[in-house]
Amino acid sequence: MKKSRKNCQSGVSLRFYQKPAAGAVASQKTHPLLSWPNSWKHLKMEYEYMCPKSSLEIALGRRGVMVGGLAALGALAAGRHGLVSPAAAQSGPYSGTGAASQTPAFFQTTVGDAKVTALLDGGFVVPTNGLAKFFPDSAETISKLDTLLYPHPEGLAIPVGAYLVETSKNVVLIDAGGGPTYLPTTGRLQASLKAAGVAPEKVDTILLTHLHMEHALGISTADGKKVFPNAEVLVSDAEYKFWMDDANLSKVPQGEAFVAGARRSIAPYKDSIRRFADQEKEVVAGFSTLPGPGHTPGNTSFMLTSGSASLLILGDVVHSPVLQLPTPRARVGVDVDPALGVESRVRTLDAIAGKTTFVGGMHLPWPGFGRMARNGEGYAYFAMPWQLG
Ligand SMILES: [Zn+2]
Repeated sequence: MKKSRKNCQSGVSLRFYQKPAAGAVASQKTHPLLSWPNSWKHLKMEYEYMCPKSSLEIALGRRGVMVGGLAALGALAAGRHGLVSPAAAQSGPYSGTGAASQTPAFFQTTVGDAKVTALLDGGFVVPTNGLAKFFPDSAETISKLDTLLYPHPEGLAIPVGAYLVETSKNVVLIDAGGGPTYLPTTGRLQASLKAAGVAPEKVDTILLTHLHMEHALGISTADGKKVFPNAEVLVSDAEYKFWMDDANLSKVPQGEAFVAGARRSIAPYKDSIRRFADQEKEVVAGFSTLPGPGHTPGNTSFMLTSGSASLLILGDVVHSPVLQLPTPRARVGVDVDPALGVESRVRTLDAIAGKTTFVGGMHLPWPGFGRMARNGEGYAYFAMPWQLG
């Protein structure tokens, strides 16, 4: 993190004309140390993680006045001061604070002899003014989003989920959400797991699709301890190497806070990490990898096979079914390699489209369990209905 520290400043303070609400999300892409999107709480934490001798103070200033060492952040205003309004932050479907919180959520089904539990961690919102950057080839669909989706007042709401698979041999968690320190609107995974009746100690294996914070940060606590004390953590070799190499800091579209987040998520597991090769291979009994590089270098989907049944849990090849499935060759701006991301999306979806393989994915609409079909030049997702019994 040498390069990061060049940008550290001592005694940094920020004042905003409006005090950030507990659930407020900032867009802080203008400062090299801070990523986007992010919450104020997380912004402070990440800055201080990367600049151990500094502190970031966020304070209330006079209306219209913004002062502070990180003046560059002023430029993030982008007409909306970079703030999600407190009302919006608390009224959306993924509100994570206060009385408006959703209940912990899990959804169970079976795939062959395996019990599969979808777990809801929360979600995040891509602000309306950030959609063109996130989905640079999707302007036409973006212009119609209001008619295609349940609207979120500030942009595109993207759920964050994870899956627990109990086989005869293992208790496997696939991704773990962003944890309570990523965003105020993530961090429900542990409550969801508890509601499903599974203690963290029971998880013996964690498969990580990739090391973005909303997938991996949930395996560790804010003070650097394991959430899942008995788990071996499996991550792709390419993924691990990418995030550990300072030479790649500038290649991360979301900024260096995502590098810090990736490192922080797996740090407590340094003695129990197993790296798998970036090829199709069984890595745990019943689970095979399907590499999907592009979003990140080691982005991976996992295929569970049990008897004649199968389930592919997607790495990040789909963030928004509405935007991406009809036009799967549309690039994603937050991919490390957007062109490669397109190839991986098509190859991954081709592997299951029109087949009896079930599909899951962290950003599919909750509970994220269904089938993928072909639809013209693209695909369509059909969710399994949530039924009682
Ligand atoms: Zn993701």
